[in-house]
Amino acid sequence: MLDKVTKLLLVEDDEDDYILTCDYLQQLDSHTFNVEWISSPEQAIEKLSKNEHDICLLDYRLGASNGLSVLKKAIANGFSGPIIMLTGQSNDELDSAALDAGAVDYLIKTEMSSSRFARAIRYALARKDVEGERVERLKAEAENRSKDRFLAHLSHELRTPLSSILGYTELLLQSDFSHQAENELGVIYRNGKHLLSLLNDVLDLSKIAADKLELTLSEVNLDSMLADVYTLMRVSVLDKGLTLRFESQEPLPLVAKLDATRVRQILINLINNAVKFTDKGEIVVKAWTQWVDDTEMLFFSIKDSGMGIAPEKQELIFKPFEQIADVESRSVGGAGLGLAICAELLNRMHGRIDLHSEIGKGSTFTISVYPGDISEVERQTLNFTSAPQLQSKSAPCKVQGRVLVVDDLRDLRMLVGHMISTCGARVDYAEHGQQALEKVRIAEAYKAPYDIIFIDIHMPIMGGKEATIELRKMGYKGPIIALTAATMKGIHEELAALGFNDVIPKPVDSSALYQCLQDYLIAPECAPQAKNIASDKVLTVKKQRFLLVEDDHDAAQITQLLLESLGVETVIASSCAQCLQILNHDQQFNKVLLDMHLPDGRGVDLGQQINDRYPELRLVIVSGAEPDPKQIKDLNIDRVLLKPINLSLLETLISS
Ligand code: ADP
Repeated sequence: MLDKVTKLLLVEDDEDDYILTCDYLQQLDSHTFNVEWISSPEQAIEKLSKNEHDICLLDYRLGASNGLSVLKKAIANGFSGPIIMLTGQSNDELDSAALDAGAVDYLIKTEMSSSRFARAIRYALARKDVEGERVERLKAEAENRSKDRFLAHLSHELRTPLSSILGYTELLLQSDFSHQAENELGVIYRNGKHLLSLLNDVLDLSKIAADKLELTLSEVNLDSMLADVYTLMRVSVLDKGLTLRFESQEPLPLVAKLDATRVRQILINLINNAVKFTDKGEIVVKAWTQWVDDTEMLFFSIKDSGMGIAPEKQELIFKPFEQIADVESRSVGGAGLGLAICAELLNRMHGRIDLHSEIGKGSTFTISVYPGDISEVERQTLNFTSAPQLQSKSAPCKVQGRVLVVDDLRDLRMLVGHMISTCGARVDYAEHGQQALEKVRIAEAYKAPYDIIFIDIHMPIMGGKEATIELRKMGYKGPIIALTAATMKGIHEELAALGFNDVIPKPVDSSALYQCLQDYLIAPECAPQAKNIASDKVLTVKKQRFLLVEDDHDAAQITQLLLESLGVETVIASSCAQCLQILNHDQQFNKVLLDMHLPDGRGVDLGQQINDRYPELRLVIVSGAEPDPKQIKDLNIDRVLLKPINLSLLETLISS
């Protein structure tokens, strides 16, 4: 403060008063003043309009004109600093006229030697600083708000065309054309997915920056979470001929209070990087607990035997958009956002990320998270390994039948489903127990029951144990197989008592899965023809009708195609008006899918109108950005689907 020079404009037509004022100002040791002296009112207005001074002392009597009119014009022209009026004698009327016109204070020249003068100047300058900060803060807040709006909008705009790209590619990959251009379609699909993950990264980072990212803490089964990460990552590790090993040297708590989705995201990110930057050797993930000050924290380390990171780059890579600029890292792609997001997320979880790396030898990333109070929680050691040679042993078997895979993790569900479908069985999916019950009910109603159900034990809404009890109550007689990481003694007996037929341990291993399929399903050559037809066709022809309100032509077309491939008749409306017009004479829809941005209004308002007029209709919001919970809180909606839409997302709408 002392070093800063305060620019002061003195508007005064009497030279003696100018000299006196300068003297007094010099005695004020809290500030150093750079005084500019002006005597004419016109010049004063011109100078003040430039808004270059920190403060102005303005004489009330300036020749023929009076200081008040200068004051008013200066403020009107944009001077934002404090102005103090000076006059020869005390006059209450003038005092209040000056304050009304925008002066911050009114001083009598004879009082200049007093402490009142010093106080007035100091107060005016302090007020200016506070006001300046307030304006800056408001400006920053407004900028942030518009940045958030812009990002939400951008996300919507990008997700809509991505829906079309991914949706059509998915459809083509499943069609008869795929063998002609499988590679090319694969490239489009992979790149579309990559674009989507970049978009998600940018959004994550902007949410973190705007302090909008909220953690969802829940009781998480650590063994099951780690087994899922292991299963998901094993494929790409093995594809590169590497070994993946997960181990805990000491027993780990079975349950911890975490945001499972985010912890999984961090681990997957770090393992993905390890795979990207390692050409041979192994990736080892360790987990342990350790006291930091007086808190028991949960630690994970991800160690690779890859290219390593030079010391001078080690700090940089945790900053957004930083990548090591060498040929190798550029050839593997990425926006350089992953580690910055990990570091921010860990910060929110009261943890941190550390790196130890040596060029040519490999890197170890160590992260810590606060797992809640784990002092009383039961502990267990966990270890799993997969080396490349192990995988080649199990070739898919050939079986026939309908299979339901129930798991809350989409990627895992799809992976298990993919393994099963390579054996020739038809796979259907459910996200949790409740959805599984509905799927089974519908399948039975269409006389195409599932021949086997694979179900995860820990899922939100309804877990595998509860679902199995219900399924047995409903009379489902087929085999139910538990997917579980639990290996405690007696778990098989407990699960058998609940109605399970078998257990496949997590991480799910393809050979265990193939063995199970062989044990419970029949081979195609043994299958009676009639069953074959029934089980393959009937379920897809459950005629549901959806009304899809979407103005983007391509997005509407692909969603319609995907829905129709699932046997859902789909009517498209491209505006609010058209939607209401259709509903006016036809309300026979199982669901109405609403885009949020329509040409003639907001999806939220349209949803409200539909709720009011046709309360029996079930609404699903389809949006490119997560809708503002405040906006949709009064709407009666079934689900929110985030674009891009794909087949498995739409599938979840059908049974519910
Ligand atoms: P990107 O999406 O580019 O991988 P990240 O933030 O995840 O972004 O990583 C930033 C950079 O850090 C990478 O581009 C790479 O240069 C370096 N890096 C990250 N993990 C490793 C690793 N395990 N081994 C070597 N380099 C790594």
